[in-house]
Amino acid sequence: MPSPVGHAIAGLCGYTLVARDVAPRYRKALLLASVAIANLPDIDILPGIFAGDLGRFHRQGTHSLVASLAIGLFVGLWVKRWKWSSLPWGVWAFTLYLSHILLDMLVESSRGVQFFWPFSDDYFILPITIFRSFKYSASAIGTIQTIFSFNNTLTVLWEMVLLLPIFLLVQNFAGRFRQFRQSVQFKLAYLFNGKQRR
Ligand SMILES: [Zn+2]
Repeated sequence: MPSPVGHAIAGLCGYTLVARDVAPRYRKALLLASVAIANLPDIDILPGIFAGDLGRFHRQGTHSLVASLAIGLFVGLWVKRWKWSSLPWGVWAFTLYLSHILLDMLVESSRGVQFFWPFSDDYFILPITIFRSFKYSASAIGTIQTIFSFNNTLTVLWEMVLLLPIFLLVQNFAGRFRQFRQSVQFKLAYLFNGKQRR
């Protein structure tokens, strides 16, 4: 898996794409939510604390398409309380959560993720792997030493080399992406409602 830093950069990209859609007073919460959703699949390392092995339950059900859809659905329903549109926010959360899983499928020396859980327990990985593995546990040196090891430091630095340029690109194209998204939403609203909404 990439490290929490790599996934946080993905969260920053997700935030940048939608930040201007919300009032400034909501943006700090949106930023936190973006980084949290981008890291959320790795919540499966927590039960490993009790098993004495952080990797014990890792990259299983929380790293699946079904979990991504569930998060998209949850966020789509949650934002209704602020009268935000369910569909775009649901798609946003689904994509952001899915980005974590796709990044994990690009990690070398990994068996991949249970992408089609609960229909299959097989692990899937993409044919090209570009990230180094971020390790949470190695019994020889202990969990804390593993997390802050030289190897993991190199992993984080390599993720920054690969992902920060993508973040800068996203920042540059966020405005144009917003215009494109608004035109699609406008056309969809016209199709479904038979009237123009402004
Ligand atoms: Zn993960």
